[in-house]
Amino acid sequence: MEQNSLIRTEAYVNGQWVKAGSGKTFAVTNPATGKVIASVTDMDRADTRRAIDAAHAAWPAYRDTTAKERASLMRTWFNLMLEHKEELARLMTMECGKVLQESLGEVDYGASFIEWFAEEAKRTYGDVIPSYSRDRRLVVIKQSVGVAAAITPWNFPLAMITRKVGPALAAGSTVVVKPPSETPLTALAIAYLAEKAGFPPGVYNTITSSNSSDIGKELCENTKVRKLSFTGSTPVGKILMEQSAPTLKKLSLELGGNAPFIVFEDADIEAAVKGAILSKFRNNGQTCVCVNRVLVQDQVYDEFVEKFSEAVAALKVGNGLEKDVQVGPLINEKGLEKVKEHVEDAIAKGARVTEGGKPLDGLFYKPTVLADANPGMLISREEVFGPVAPVFRFSTEEEAIQLANDTAYGLASYFYSKDVARCWRVAEALEYGMVGINEGMISTEVAPFGGMKESGFGREGSKYGMDYFMEIKYMCFGGIK
Ligand code: NAP
Repeated sequence: MEQNSLIRTEAYVNGQWVKAGSGKTFAVTNPATGKVIASVTDMDRADTRRAIDAAHAAWPAYRDTTAKERASLMRTWFNLMLEHKEELARLMTMECGKVLQESLGEVDYGASFIEWFAEEAKRTYGDVIPSYSRDRRLVVIKQSVGVAAAITPWNFPLAMITRKVGPALAAGSTVVVKPPSETPLTALAIAYLAEKAGFPPGVYNTITSSNSSDIGKELCENTKVRKLSFTGSTPVGKILMEQSAPTLKKLSLELGGNAPFIVFEDADIEAAVKGAILSKFRNNGQTCVCVNRVLVQDQVYDEFVEKFSEAVAALKVGNGLEKDVQVGPLINEKGLEKVKEHVEDAIAKGARVTEGGKPLDGLFYKPTVLADANPGMLISREEVFGPVAPVFRFSTEEEAIQLANDTAYGLASYFYSKDVARCWRVAEALEYGMVGINEGMISTEVAPFGGMKESGFGREGSKYGMDYFMEIKYMCFGGIK
């Protein structure tokens, strides 16, 4: 195990590094090597309650700080993340397998939410409403929602946390973060940097556990938690929503996707191939905005499949810490099995493998292109969450839109065309929260990230992000003569 000054294995609660009440721990392994990196404290419901109590006790004083004071703490935290960029990135690659170049990019991306919301903290303006009566004055203010909980996935061990806690901390909320059991080390590393930044005890808490369903129940059922922001799969999002009903908890749900990537006959094919590679194979196909279905118009189908397959064949697979590697391992055995199942199902239903199509050693899978895909295939309906690109064929613009929208999901979508009128028509017709037009990489802290339909609700990042961590209060001043 290489030296890394940011490794912490205890949870961070009320300004203290603490073990689970039970004394239990769980192992964190490197998916590229199968080796154990560290053993981390394994908390239960009672431990979770203690973290919630700490956040609740810290809330009134933190809520009453000025926006400028909060912004200053956040700015210090942001600077610390960038100072420790290399160590954070290496830790991330070791626990989730993404290649180092992408991990370095994630530190910048993740930290950018803290910088952005530190700036936004000072701009949470209210309103003065023209009165309906001469003796009354109507004012609207925005206030922090209270204790906010965050449950996050392993595919962005840092950015999915900062995208939630950025607006929460800026708004004056205190937070309890529950990272996934696969990648708790990055979460604990940024908790350590939050401590160094000087957040008062109880404002920022991170609890680790291998029993996420118990922790989830406590976070949903505890009345001291006023807001739950979740990023993860749609089935788990539905469970959390159901569990949150009795306390009518405010929810933001950033869930799964089934992103279409449409290539029209008038597209710049070289640019489309480049965009598809970036969007499909980023993090080995394990992001919620990764392309899941490539739809290509008749006239350019063969040309696209040939050039795309060539580009996929050139991708270098390996341990993300090694130089020049572009594609890492799947996160775990379950992820690998899903990829194998989707490929076998597609081949049985008529897909033609033009590149890859087989597992490599350990948790690695050869980047794959499946031509002649059809809507009857499993991969057409479910996220493959791996390095497999099925290519479907279509004839008309209407058919492309119908195929693209024929899914329960509505997170990210992409298309390539040089026709301006078509760009508007298609962008407006796609039932997705985000549309990339002649662009395969669209995530940024300055734009709203989120989905429609069963991809969830709420938006993260951008000027819209703050609203999900604030209450609107209307004040009516009467008796003014
Ligand atoms: P997941 O299984 O839903 O897990 C996400 C988080 O929820 C983890 O912290 C997990 O902890 C926890 N969890 C699992 N079951 C739970 C339960 N019953 N109660 C409370 N918490 C529970 O998803 P994943 O496989 O880690 O992540 C991949 C999914 O996330 C994909 O569907 C992807 O599209 C989606 N995603 C969406 C976005 C977005 O912004 N829309 C971004 C990234 C990823 P444990 O891992 O410890 O069980």
